[in-house]
Amino acid sequence: MKYYSLNYNSQDVSFLYAVRKGLAPDRGLYFPSDIKKLPNTFFKNIHNLSDHEIAFQVIHQFVGGDIPDSRLNKIIEETLSFDFPIVPITDSIATLELFQGPTLAFKDVGARFMARCLAYANEVEKKEKLTILVATSGDTGGAVADGFYKVDGINVVILYPKGKVSQIQEKQLTTLGENIKAIEVDGVFDDCQDMVKSAFIDNDLIQNVALTSANSINIARWLSQMFYYFIAYKNRLHPEKKLVVSVPSGNFGNLCAGLVAKKMGLPIDQFIASTNINDTVPDYLNSGTYTPKKSKATLSNAMDVGDPSNFIRIQKLFNNDFFKLKKILKGYHYTDTETKKAIKEIHEVSGYIADPHGAVGYLGLRDFLKNTTDDYQGLFLETAHPIKFVDTVEATLKTTVEIPKRLESILDREKTSIPISRYDELKSFLLKR
Ligand SMILES: *Cc1c(COP(=O)(O)O)cnc(C)c1O
Repeated sequence: MKYYSLNYNSQDVSFLYAVRKGLAPDRGLYFPSDIKKLPNTFFKNIHNLSDHEIAFQVIHQFVGGDIPDSRLNKIIEETLSFDFPIVPITDSIATLELFQGPTLAFKDVGARFMARCLAYANEVEKKEKLTILVATSGDTGGAVADGFYKVDGINVVILYPKGKVSQIQEKQLTTLGENIKAIEVDGVFDDCQDMVKSAFIDNDLIQNVALTSANSINIARWLSQMFYYFIAYKNRLHPEKKLVVSVPSGNFGNLCAGLVAKKMGLPIDQFIASTNINDTVPDYLNSGTYTPKKSKATLSNAMDVGDPSNFIRIQKLFNNDFFKLKKILKGYHYTDTETKKAIKEIHEVSGYIADPHGAVGYLGLRDFLKNTTDDYQGLFLETAHPIKFVDTVEATLKTTVEIPKRLESILDREKTSIPISRYDELKSFLLKR
């Protein structure tokens, strides 16, 4: 499989090359040259397949010969080392829990898959050590740190805003050690992001350090998120009904992966783009005009994105045909007040404790179902464990959220971080290594 740049001004490349690079030289996102449908027998037979077998068949065409089958199998086994349970909320609504991974973030799957593909690329190509540079507002950093921990040939440098991430999130970034370095920036998330952007265009750095990113622009992170949708289809509670999936979205990597799954023949009838007040995509789906906006801070902060990177991939999947896209994708957006009300509503009807991101997904699904007469089975994706947003959840429900066992140990570990306040401090740190 070849990948081309969506800026159409770079050479086509292989899977592993695109994974190492992240972005194409013309700053465009990589896109697969072909997306083949899976055979009908695969979908008929899906109940007899394990999650690993499903994932292998789903990703195989995209990795296309770059990684031998036996190794790809091993990578998938290590990536999917936890479950994706479906929990019913009402008769027509259930949630698909994507947060059962080691850092309680749905980003665990993408980060683990990407890390293992890169480790393989390093083994065969014997290139120089790679440095992964990421800015995090909280959730991405933990998943990337854990996913790349002790992976050969890769150093990870994570920038986070001092005092702006939760205690658990900070511990996840700063207590691993080994090849993971946490940089504590005296500023806000945008300052971290700006420093990372400066580094990627800094010629001194480009010539001396092999830098790459680990966000959902990377094809290994983006495409592996397809696994959720196929596994959800296998485990769906009402096989006789049409399926609609609501995806709480920020940078739109996850939803875009779901749309690739549909293109491969997965029978999901409708997708819903559920956002907080950062409503660029729902706004586009209503008006037909795409207007990027400045991001605004909300309770569901992992979705505070005003100009989603993956939107261009979504458009490409539909060949820029607005009406085709609108048939399959509906958009809804919600305020923080509505989000908190939804957390209460979910808890009242089912006893389930949702986090603010999942609650936004629930709202989009609920409102879609209100406006249709068709008989649907609805799934909303629960992208984070409520403990990660414990202040909001506990204040809204007046109840306590238990800390999962696997997080308790992290709270006693010692924090190690490198405090900086200016870009040149980051630069000299990267050059020294
Ligand atoms: C990253 C994230 C999202 C948004 O996912 P995208 O693929 O960027 O749309 C939603 N919820 C949580 C908890 C996240 O960490």
